[in-house]
Amino acid sequence: MDSKRALKLQAGPPGGRAEPSPPPNPPPNPPIRQRILYNQRRPPPFDLEALVQATVLSKLREAMDYVLLVKNAVLEDLIAQLDNNMLGRIRNPPQGPLQIDSPGIHHSITTYLALEHASQEAYKHVIHSTRQSYPTPDRVDNELLSFKVVEKLIASYTGIDPIWHDMCPDSCVGFTGPFKDLDDCPTCNKSQWNEAKLHVSNGCIKVSLKKFPTIPLGPQLQALYRDPKSAQFIDNITMGWDYLGMVLDSNIKENDIMVMASLDGAQLYEDKDSNCWIYVWIIVNLSPDKWYRKVHVLPGGFIPGPNKPKNLDSFLVVGIHHLAALQKEGLKVWNASQNEVFLFSDPTFTSSS
Ligand SMILES: [Zn+2]
Repeated sequence: MDSKRALKLQAGPPGGRAEPSPPPNPPPNPPIRQRILYNQRRPPPFDLEALVQATVLSKLREAMDYVLLVKNAVLEDLIAQLDNNMLGRIRNPPQGPLQIDSPGIHHSITTYLALEHASQEAYKHVIHSTRQSYPTPDRVDNELLSFKVVEKLIASYTGIDPIWHDMCPDSCVGFTGPFKDLDDCPTCNKSQWNEAKLHVSNGCIKVSLKKFPTIPLGPQLQALYRDPKSAQFIDNITMGWDYLGMVLDSNIKENDIMVMASLDGAQLYEDKDSNCWIYVWIIVNLSPDKWYRKVHVLPGGFIPGPNKPKNLDSFLVVGIHHLAALQKEGLKVWNASQNEVFLFSDPTFTSSS
């Protein structure tokens, strides 16, 4: 007798008589719903342009100029310095998973990534050795990439493609916003130009002594979504009032990307004066255990030292301006996990340091 048969016999009425069936379980109590009364917060009405014009104190005026720059941000602004390639990519991201079919290109990329702590020379030596070992012209050696080309290719795949701005040689300010047309640092009065080249060219050739890089966030987010594993974001945002209030105010909507900026100083070499400041973007939609994994930490920009920056706004404005422009225009991404194009209109920004 099989088990199904036994079960049927036990459930049947003994002696052919029907027994009354037991009363059904009472339905569970409906969940107690609490009504939350919430008055949506509205931003206070004020005229920012008029406020900027009315600001008298010079430091305050500089800060207000930066606020105005961010408020009016569009991707084409000169401060963004996005070339047509990057603009085209932000507005029309590649759709489809990344596939590298060429073994030479694959080898170049894996070699570059494996040698992350080694010098450019080490990369050149490995590639040279590979060429010697596989001399047939139509095989691997023909597709191996130089250091510069492999860097460019990786930048296009990952979206980590820096834009550069002039800065004070002593790291006081970045020549952006209210400082963009100055020759000398407004804090230490040092010239930002290479004086030798300026002198030889009778003042025609202006080459900045020092520059700082900013890495726009948009292409990095697009690259992250292009990978099926990275594209599976989950909502696990700390339920603080800052977040809940913004949800109730409809400033944060379903599927928005939440990012957080984190800024700190770092010494790059143990035995060398190599202080610099670095800020990164953290994607808060990920679960907290993934926030600081290398693959998910998106570089925002670097401020070369060794001195501390005296006006942080002048450096950070490039990355924040880019984010503000994305909030205004929206960021199109191709989501690999759903094979669909989304338009994110509100990458929302919080900050920490
Ligand atoms: Zn200076």
